[in-house]
Amino acid sequence: MPKNAPPQEEAPAPQNAGFSALGLDPKIVAALTTLGYEEPTPIQQETIPTLIAGKDLLGQAATGTGKTAAFALPILQRIVNEGRGGESPTAVVLVPTRELAMQVAEAVHRYGKALGIRVLPIYGGQPIGRQLYAIRAGVDVVVATPGRALDHIRRGSLQMGGVRIVVLDEADEMLDMGFAEDIEAVLKESPATRQTVLFSATMPPRIEAIAKRNQRDPVRIRIAKPVAKAGEAPKVRQQAYLLPRSSKMGALGRILDLESPAAAIIFCRTRTEVDELTETLSARGYKAEALHGGMTQDIRDKVMRRVRAGDSELLVATDVAARGLDIDRLTHVINYDLPAAPEAYVHRIGRVGRAGREGVAITLVEPREHHALRNIERLTKHTIQIAKVPTVADLRTKRLEVTLASLREALVADDNEHYRVVVDSLSDAYDPIQIAMAAVKLYHQAAIGDEEEQEEIAEASRPEAPPDRQSQSTPRASPGFSRFSKAAGADGGTTPPRKRGGPDLDMARIFIGAGREAGIRPQDLVGAIANEAKVAGNLIGAIQITDRFSIVEVPEQVAQQVIKALGNTTLRGKKVPVRRDKAN
Ligand code: AMP
Repeated sequence: MPKNAPPQEEAPAPQNAGFSALGLDPKIVAALTTLGYEEPTPIQQETIPTLIAGKDLLGQAATGTGKTAAFALPILQRIVNEGRGGESPTAVVLVPTRELAMQVAEAVHRYGKALGIRVLPIYGGQPIGRQLYAIRAGVDVVVATPGRALDHIRRGSLQMGGVRIVVLDEADEMLDMGFAEDIEAVLKESPATRQTVLFSATMPPRIEAIAKRNQRDPVRIRIAKPVAKAGEAPKVRQQAYLLPRSSKMGALGRILDLESPAAAIIFCRTRTEVDELTETLSARGYKAEALHGGMTQDIRDKVMRRVRAGDSELLVATDVAARGLDIDRLTHVINYDLPAAPEAYVHRIGRVGRAGREGVAITLVEPREHHALRNIERLTKHTIQIAKVPTVADLRTKRLEVTLASLREALVADDNEHYRVVVDSLSDAYDPIQIAMAAVKLYHQAAIGDEEEQEEIAEASRPEAPPDRQSQSTPRASPGFSRFSKAAGADGGTTPPRKRGGPDLDMARIFIGAGREAGIRPQDLVGAIANEAKVAGNLIGAIQITDRFSIVEVPEQVAQQVIKALGNTTLRGKKVPVRRDKAN
């Protein structure tokens, strides 16, 4: 013991006794403590000792149960106990998607950092050369999609001879995606003495068959889905709004403003809907990103990095693209469209309320879909509360609450002395309460926008829109909504309140050759048009920002002036092409 060790009574209580008792190395336990894991989850309790002992395991468990750590921690412990695998990795984890590969690899890295564990995600779409180089440099754990793993095995770059553990994660998803043969081929290439761990959310006969062919006397475990546990208070607040399709967009804006999610995933049914909703949200000042199967892997990776880093607050996605995604910061799941099946609802909302955290699931339901909501309630054994779309008054109250909270913070900070001279010079003529009220009004208006914007929201989400517009999705042409900022400067500046040019003005569409990838935000375009072309911000119509370009609507009378002015200036530091949109 070091000479200056603290006296016994000051020694900290043993941390994470639960994980230590499962037989994990103190360095791994310390990593878990840093990550805030206090107790093993039920699945971890059951699997960790079994897997450290080298037994095969067949587990029925969904994401959100702590499944990743349940197989990752024993892999690390076996490396500690038995040493590394030489030319081969010690463990190969097969997962259905690239996103999941990155996610699992990241988790293994975090748990095993102090042990110097080398982990590598490999998946299709990534340049193979880089993967070859990384594998040759030596890895302990490979997390791969089945096709790419097989590719490397066939090239000889992935040596399987020394592999001691193979994990099949989300096996049912892998089969659904057509990976059955690849999985069998990978297993065939690994030593017969290996440990085989199989996790699946469901256990159809096809999975049982794979287990039978490839496992030896597996220990079976089954962990209930966290959201569907009967009798347990749900950690996810589930709410639905009943409204016609034509009102969804306006209502979504109000709901987002009322809920102020730190990070939300918004589910749509199709790729087109994802793109359209993302563009509308971006144009209205939200930091929204699209994720769907039609995007290249490179772009999808970038999107996920931005979402994980907190640079984006809304991820608009299809079910398939978001499969298996785990975003720690996620507070809200929003079903812009009802999922095709009630089971998919459970999958979707399983992304929040994990590991004891609170979450919110919001569903927009059209009146004709009422029965589908009932089916979901039957499956989850939980009543979904039908809520009223927030009114203008609700938003106003919420805005005042935000202002109140900001003022409280400023009062606590106690560094306001600088402004005393202003108050002093007014206090001869005015009552301090009057001065305070005027100051609050100025702050509130600057931070949050004015009443005009609120009325526009009211107009946009009036529920009695004609039913014949229900199937048309025209976000570009709809008045939509604008966000209000959570606090002045809280998200890097507010989007100026925008009103459309108005039905009596002919609008021209202007093409600007820079978009999201160049960092363009609606406020950049509004700012440039207002300052350079001297066109008032409230004359600017819909703004659409895609990855590569943007389209802005301005009144026909000023179109030429805007094109000329923007052509002569820079946007985010660069000259960009500006012209009339061809669709005009
Ligand atoms: P998974 O089911 O593996 O997708 O894990 C769901 C979430 O729970 C992840 O964000 C993990 O970081 C977290 N998690 C896993 N195990 C624990 C634990 N024992 N305590 C707290 N959080 C955990």
